[in-house]
Amino acid sequence: MIEVHDLHKHFGGFHAVDGASLRIRKGSITGLIGPNGAGKTTLFNVIAGRLPPTSGRVTMAGEDITGLPPHALFHKGLLRTFQIAHEFSSMTVRENLMMVPAAQAGESLWNAWFARGRIRQEEAALRRKADEVLDFLTIAHVADERAGNLSGGQKKLLELGRTMMVDARIVFLDEVGAGVNRTLLNTIADAIVRLNRERGYTFCVIEHDMDFISRICDPVIVMAQGKVLAEGSAQEILRNEAVIEAYLGT
Ligand code: ADP
Repeated sequence: MIEVHDLHKHFGGFHAVDGASLRIRKGSITGLIGPNGAGKTTLFNVIAGRLPPTSGRVTMAGEDITGLPPHALFHKGLLRTFQIAHEFSSMTVRENLMMVPAAQAGESLWNAWFARGRIRQEEAALRRKADEVLDFLTIAHVADERAGNLSGGQKKLLELGRTMMVDARIVFLDEVGAGVNRTLLNTIADAIVRLNRERGYTFCVIEHDMDFISRICDPVIVMAQGKVLAEGSAQEILRNEAVIEAYLGT
């Protein structure tokens, strides 16, 4: 689904991504791991159109998508989850979901604001869809809660929920488990697996928790120093000497 060819992203003289090439297979839940500073987030930001690459190419189903802005990628079904913006934290969870089709398409709060009239017209349908999403994610009980009051894990589920308000094909998730308790981490893992199996989502997930990665990701791609160091099943990766060395070296 996604191919990254010899991608470079330099910040001044620093090569954060330094010739990375990888594939994300359609229908997979691909894990992306590596020591801090390996270039994982920068790679995500380049693929998702948040940073222009210095050189290299990204294709989606064979089509060159290098450097396309986030809203263009959004229309192709490529989404990167992002934290709930401050402006949206005082809105309820359900309202946050109902805003997505308008807000993400334009990527600005202004567009979402201007779209309010249209949102009102479509309100019943959007509300139904939002409630279905909350049911799917097992957080229907917080529908009327302010988004800012959710726990870290519930916020992650809401971020995942936002991808379900539109027709996502591939979703990039950054640090799903950071600061999330075990129970909710399991709920998030289940939601990812169900979205993958039942709705055909492809995922690429950056995560440090190897239990989480081993449980849901295949394959796992390891980055170090801006390059791809290894790829394989979680078991293979955990036995790979170059990988062990890269982690010990930091
Ligand atoms: P990872 O996600 O694997 O921890 P990052 O992609 O966040 O790695 O960072 C890779 C390297 O690039 C780090 O050393 C980081 O300091 C550097 N870096 C990231 N963004 C910038 C930036 N905007 N300007 C300068 N250096 C950056």
